[in-house]
Amino acid sequence: MEIIKIKSQHKSRNITIALVGNPNSGKSSLFNQLTGLRQKIGNYPGITVDKKSGTFIQKNNQPAFVLDLPGTYSVYPRSKDEKIVLEILTDKKNPQHPDLVVVIVDASNLKRNLLLLTQVKDMGIPIICGLNMLDVADKKGIILDIPVLESRLKVPVIPINARSGKGIDDLTKIFSKIGEQGDDQGYVYRPQIPEELRSGILDHFKISNEYYVALYLNQTETFAGLSENDREFLRSIKAEYKSYLHGLQNSEILERYKFIDTIISEVETRKSESKRIKFTAKLDKFLTHPVFGYLVFCSILFIIFQAIFSWAETPMDWIDQLFAGLSSTIKNTFPKGLFVDAIAEGIIPGIGGIAIFIPQIALLFAFIAILEDSGYMARVVFLMDRIMRRFGLSGKSVVPLISGVACAIPAVMATRNIENWKERIISIMVTPLMTCSARLPVYVILIALVVPDTKLFGIMNLQGLTLLGLYLLGFIAVLIAAWIFNLIIKSDVKGFLIMEMPVYKTPRWNNVGLMMLEKSKAFVFQAGKIIIAISLILWVLATFGPSEEMNKAEETINMQLPGMGMQDKEYRSALSAYRLEHSYAAILGKSLEPVIKPLGFDWKIGIALITSFAAREVFVSTIATIYSVGEDADDTYTIKQKMKQEVNPETGQPVYTTAVAFSLLIFYAFAMQCMSTLAVVYRETRGIKWPLIQFTYMSIMAYVASLIVYSVLK
Ligand code: GDP
Ligand code: MG
Repeated sequence: MEIIKIKSQHKSRNITIALVGNPNSGKSSLFNQLTGLRQKIGNYPGITVDKKSGTFIQKNNQPAFVLDLPGTYSVYPRSKDEKIVLEILTDKKNPQHPDLVVVIVDASNLKRNLLLLTQVKDMGIPIICGLNMLDVADKKGIILDIPVLESRLKVPVIPINARSGKGIDDLTKIFSKIGEQGDDQGYVYRPQIPEELRSGILDHFKISNEYYVALYLNQTETFAGLSENDREFLRSIKAEYKSYLHGLQNSEILERYKFIDTIISEVETRKSESKRIKFTAKLDKFLTHPVFGYLVFCSILFIIFQAIFSWAETPMDWIDQLFAGLSSTIKNTFPKGLFVDAIAEGIIPGIGGIAIFIPQIALLFAFIAILEDSGYMARVVFLMDRIMRRFGLSGKSVVPLISGVACAIPAVMATRNIENWKERIISIMVTPLMTCSARLPVYVILIALVVPDTKLFGIMNLQGLTLLGLYLLGFIAVLIAAWIFNLIIKSDVKGFLIMEMPVYKTPRWNNVGLMMLEKSKAFVFQAGKIIIAISLILWVLATFGPSEEMNKAEETINMQLPGMGMQDKEYRSALSAYRLEHSYAAILGKSLEPVIKPLGFDWKIGIALITSFAAREVFVSTIATIYSVGEDADDTYTIKQKMKQEVNPETGQPVYTTAVAFSLLIFYAFAMQCMSTLAVVYRETRGIKWPLIQFTYMSIMAYVASLIVYSVLK
């Protein structure tokens, strides 16, 4: 293949190479092969996709700047991520505008991948085609005639394997020979545009590329690097040719596909279908069946839930005991003091509060990895897409929503798979409404308190049924909230699903292990920092108070419990209850009382609401402390007794009536009481706006729902 005149001005400057291609075509793999450790991850302003750039040292020792661009199917963007690609490729003033584009093409999927390649080529940027995934194509029984492909595309085509690194040397050899493709290379698509319009635009922008005329016309509002003046010019010139311009973009896509179809008929031969493909087709008849498909999916969900909750129980107990043991060992080993207390009562329980979810998260992601790696998840996405789309979500929201049952933090991180910005934001916003496992201890104790342990129709346990109802409530809230967000959030791009159904295969177990490890690590480290900070703050709030009151603590308890001392359990718990009642947390709780009184909550519950903000399950231990159950916070039986006995001093009635308990249950179902989730949402959306909206809407929802429940049941 003849390559191209050398562009002289590049001699002084390091060249920029952009990797462009469909999602999952292997860009990041190639990027890693090229840059190794010389990479940097930054942010694109305003969107949530990581911007990856790095340096590659060329054969001639010249460094080149390499950019891993977001995956896209076409230069016409459907999402904010995809817009980046159009911006960088078309805006010559952009510092990242590439001198050379490597279009990574998935050889097992030529038709879908070549569309983008022909578009980038027509922009006149020098391109090389990295033909990737040839091994996959081979497995699918596809044989490609690469020399013919190269001569028909009029682009150097280099077979590579981005995963193993094979062929990458051949690819990089060409880098130093880049130059500019003249217009004489020929367009795949030359827009048929009335002469006046065409020359008007070429003149105005002082360009010669014909394809740009179509890009300017089709993307007037989204095209980066256009001044308002330019846009105004385009709008006015377009107004005269409205009827003509209608469908311009469609006809471009059609023409390109016609070209691609001809090429494919020349270069692609298919061996008879392999056994595996036949097997996949058979299995798919069943697994994507409009009835059985859903049944199978529901059964799998059921198994996953069973596993998360029953298999994880034992390791969770171990972790619980480990941290409790650690706390008391530290308390017993070191001399008493604030610092020791802060560690033993603030930080360690705080870390324990996160660590306890590791078994569930690891298990959950093991299942998700198995479903993904085996190819089944693609079918789930396909099955659920139609249903989810009605609510502004996508089939790809299924994974985050399922993950949300364990914990919203990894769930929010799992939304990264959703390419469409709006669908992703909605998924992030509603995921915390799924019933996470931190709500479970709160639910269990409140249900045990007010729902009788009787059987309905002789089989169904009423308490269990209530619990199930709460899970269902969370999911319904997800759908309603998503539906409302879908109405509110504006978006100029429409999401639709393009995806390949991979062939079924046995999952790679090291992949599954890796995913378990990665997700657990991400969970611990992302949430960890914040939880430690928050638990420290809450510990300070709950330990300290205005000094006069606090100083009187021992005196008062001595009077109440004469003859007892620190060696008595009752004395110690009475003391800690007194301290908590006079702490800053209590002051906050009391100041909250007017607001939460309509929901049936008193200031003691107010304290629990505040401390729950670190993690919901803290509710139980806070309540235990407030009612001075003693140090054994796990003793749900005694907590229950104490809660039952608690009397409202004004009315003389029990505090925890059915109305109050249900009001609390509903509040915990809806309220955004999780600092760590908010922090992760902040990280994922790169700003304070969405976490703020999330906190606000969920709090309002919780408040109103509790108010209604309390008013009705009271
Ligand atoms: P990106 O979305 O374009 O950045 O794609 P990635 O680089 O993340 O690759 C997607 C998946 O394809 C990864 O699991 C890679 O390991 C895998 N992959 C990349 N190149 C090849 C290849 O040539 N052959 C095979 N079999 N897998 C590949
Ligand atoms: Mg990538």
